[in-house]
Amino acid sequence: MNLLDGILNFNKRFVAEKAYEPFLTNALPNKKLLILTCMDTRLVELLPRAMDFRNGDVKIIKNAGALVTHPFGSVMRSILVAVYSLDVHEIAVVGHHGCGMTGLSCRDILDKALAAGVSPDTITMLKHAGIELERWLVGFDQVQDGVQQSVEMIRTHPLLPQKLPVHGLIIHPETGKLDVVVDGYKAAGGAV
Ligand SMILES: [Zn+2]
Repeated sequence: MNLLDGILNFNKRFVAEKAYEPFLTNALPNKKLLILTCMDTRLVELLPRAMDFRNGDVKIIKNAGALVTHPFGSVMRSILVAVYSLDVHEIAVVGHHGCGMTGLSCRDILDKALAAGVSPDTITMLKHAGIELERWLVGFDQVQDGVQQSVEMIRTHPLLPQKLPVHGLIIHPETGKLDVVVDGYKAAGGAV
């Protein structure tokens, strides 16, 4: 049985047995919080447990490195929707130690793409088309830098309220211990 068939088989039982009932909730976050965090597998269950939230409590956006790399990209769009339409009053960017985006090498990714059969001509063509791969395929030197940059990008966004608290945290991927990089209440001038 392949992975998808396994998922679908499990899902039939899940629905038939009404295993979903403990998760019933609505679309608005009880804690009025949005979390931007990393897609790291170690955080899938650990992060909600370590931060004490359950289904219905928060909005979560995940990507590689918990990064906001563009002020008008899909992450910022999701944040705007969450703040203005989904009752989010605070944001927490949660990076983690041992993140794969630390020291990410554009060259390394492109080498792997070439080894996977992508044509060198394609990469040349993208560069000629003005796609700045070296600026796009980057992470950060230290996780603190990534968290701080993402917090700043959100905090200073022209379409977001100035008093919106934006916290910056780093979670340990094994113990779940949180360290505060940015206290969003202080940075927002003591709001809430
Ligand atoms: Zn990560």
